[in-house]
Amino acid sequence: MSAGPRRPLILVGPSGVGKTTIADALVRRRPDLFALSVSATTRRPRAGERPGREYTFVSRTAFETMIEDGHLAEWAEVHGEYYGTPAENLEGLSGDGPVPVLDIDVQGAAQIMERGTGAFVIFILPPGPAKWIDRLAGRGTESPRAIARRLKTALEELRAAPSFEHFVVNADLDRTVERVQALAAGRSGRLPQASEVAVLCRGLEAGARSEIRRLDGAPKEKE
Ligand code: ADP
Ligand code: 5GP
Repeated sequence: MSAGPRRPLILVGPSGVGKTTIADALVRRRPDLFALSVSATTRRPRAGERPGREYTFVSRTAFETMIEDGHLAEWAEVHGEYYGTPAENLEGLSGDGPVPVLDIDVQGAAQIMERGTGAFVIFILPPGPAKWIDRLAGRGTESPRAIARRLKTALEELRAAPSFEHFVVNADLDRTVERVQALAAGRSGRLPQASEVAVLCRGLEAGARSEIRRLDGAPKEKE
């Protein structure tokens, strides 16, 4: 039996595709192989979030000091708040312990890839526009304006898809977790091809645009 993957695993993809859910499930299933990388952020904790579990919550000044002192492996500003991966989360990979799983945005993933950490990056896609929008709006606590804003950012992230190599479509969660685990361990199986990803992305983009127009109350564009 192999000692398991030794490369940090990065899950990227537009908001609402299920990255956090997949990362949590992966760690619950194989705590010997995977551990969550806890990021630092300046955003406020949401109800139910605990400092140090979902994020380390810090002030803007503290975050800027972390940047200046080189304590972050990558960082990005998302919706006006800072998010970053502490460099120490990517250290100590030569031993037998679990590898870190990072749920970060595409800007952060690009920075980590440039640093040559050997990270394995998987772009997660939703199975279709309707399910994606349902999941994205799922908390039910956000205003139509806030959901439209999340969708606009998500569209930007979706546009980055062609620059990635490995894709998993998150339809059934258990199957997704199995695929992610197999990919990270170097077993690829049947993966979506670039042409299939392009078709899916076009459908997702069209669905998201139409939902944004509906949420913004704007008149429909001519086809
Ligand atoms: P992200 O981290 O990519 O923004 P989340 O992990 O927060 O996405 O998931 C968004 C919503 O979708 C959550 O309510 C989650 O429970 C739900 N979800 C994630 N994966 C699946 C799946 N395979 N089937 C059904 N619902 C899912
Ligand atoms: P949320 O506020 O919903 O938890 O996260 C907002 C966005 O920030 C998500 O796209 C998430 O992947 C991203 N994010 C979370 N932590 C980090 C991080 O450490 N670095 C970067 N670059 N993005 C992050």
